[in-house]
Amino acid sequence: MKKIFSMLRSFSDSSGKAKFCITCGNKATQEALFNVGDGVMVIEKYCDTCAEKEVK
Ligand SMILES: [Zn+2]
Repeated sequence: MKKIFSMLRSFSDSSGKAKFCITCGNKATQEALFNVGDGVMVIEKYCDTCAEKEVK
């Protein structure tokens, strides 16, 4: 499935549960939104370092 990058936003944990970067496993601080078609958005969590690498 093709993902089209939509936006990056800072991610703050309000639920009390830590979220982790899907690439390196560090604590996530950013979330990237991707459009995968048919109006469906997928959110992937990243740390600052990986967000810069993965999202351009
Ligand atoms: Zn990372």
